[in-house]
Amino acid sequence: MYILEREYLAALATLLLGRGYELIGPKLAGGVITYAPLAGIEEMARKIRDAQGPGHYRSSPGEEDVWFSYVPGAASLKPWFNPPKCLVCRMRGSADEFLNETPPVTAPKRAFIGVRACEVAALRMQDKIFLEGPYADPEYRARREGALILAVNCSHPAETCFCASMQTGPKATTGFDLALTEISAKGKPAFLIEKGSDAGGELLGELPVRMATAKDKEAAILVSERAAQQITREINPERAARGLAAGLEHPHWATLESRCMNCANCTLVCPTCFCSTMEDSTSLSGDTAERWRLWDSCFVSEFTYIHGGSIRKSGASRYRQWLGHKFSHWHKQFGASGCVGCGRCIAWCPAGIDITRELAVFEASAPATARETVR
Ligand code: SF4
Ligand code: SF4
Repeated sequence: MYILEREYLAALATLLLGRGYELIGPKLAGGVITYAPLAGIEEMARKIRDAQGPGHYRSSPGEEDVWFSYVPGAASLKPWFNPPKCLVCRMRGSADEFLNETPPVTAPKRAFIGVRACEVAALRMQDKIFLEGPYADPEYRARREGALILAVNCSHPAETCFCASMQTGPKATTGFDLALTEISAKGKPAFLIEKGSDAGGELLGELPVRMATAKDKEAAILVSERAAQQITREINPERAARGLAAGLEHPHWATLESRCMNCANCTLVCPTCFCSTMEDSTSLSGDTAERWRLWDSCFVSEFTYIHGGSIRKSGASRYRQWLGHKFSHWHKQFGASGCVGCGRCIAWCPAGIDITRELAVFEASAPATARETVR
């Protein structure tokens, strides 16, 4: 592990930009912290606090001494790897030929800085979906292969976070090239840096770093421990999965239906939701046809439209699909929960629906396991 004094983070940014990477990091835009291109570290969101709650988000000036005293807002890394709209194919026809004019898949080299542990976990989940199945997605693969992930471990989790109970944070343990923890080292603001890949190690060789002392490492452990202690929301993933599987006809679905507006915000801000639809269009002249892939949501009634109508007609059935998939069937499909505990769906739900509270209802009615019965 290494120490980089905070003033030299700009040198890391300059190094990456000089190597042709587009630098993407947290930026304050319209009062919300979002991931956006940065011309340098001076454009990165620093010394800002965020207040988040069910249906609530506000940013304000933060502590002078801490740069990363916030967690990102609605926008996750998802659109940078799985864009909301992407061209699948373009065909052109004439009287005597038919041409495939789909542009080749290309992706710029991008370095993502300030990525939080839950976001890294979400990216690993997206890898499972887009790279590890029988059909790898070329667009996603190109974007992923050109990406460097420079994580920052959380010191100030939001009130809506529950990554600790999902075991996805607040400290990133894998899936990054470098992971930074903001500490004070020898009385100066600094970052303790962990190397997660050869590419990350190679960057360190170009920076004015020194080896971390035992005291520096202890300071970093303390930052992550304190962050974990500040997290008040939690779920029990195993009980939630059992409760949901057994509660398909639970009366609480009707309560949720009465509150949910089916706006789809939760699925759009969720860093692991991946459903899409296809849209075909033809030029007015009739000689060019395109197929586009667009983000879709299980909250939209057309999502399950087949000949004769939609399968999930009620709001209750759509809400059950969302919660049941994320927290129950996802385990069977991908071997893990579909939630990384980022809390976005809580803060950005206009109805203020808090999935940790809703899941508690299903957890409470989960059938006991054999082990629990013996106790
Ligand atoms: S379900 Fe909610 S808390 Fe979980 S990853 Fe998606 S947006 Fe984050
Ligand atoms: S964000 Fe809230 S209101 Fe909108 S679909 Fe999701 S749960 Fe329903």
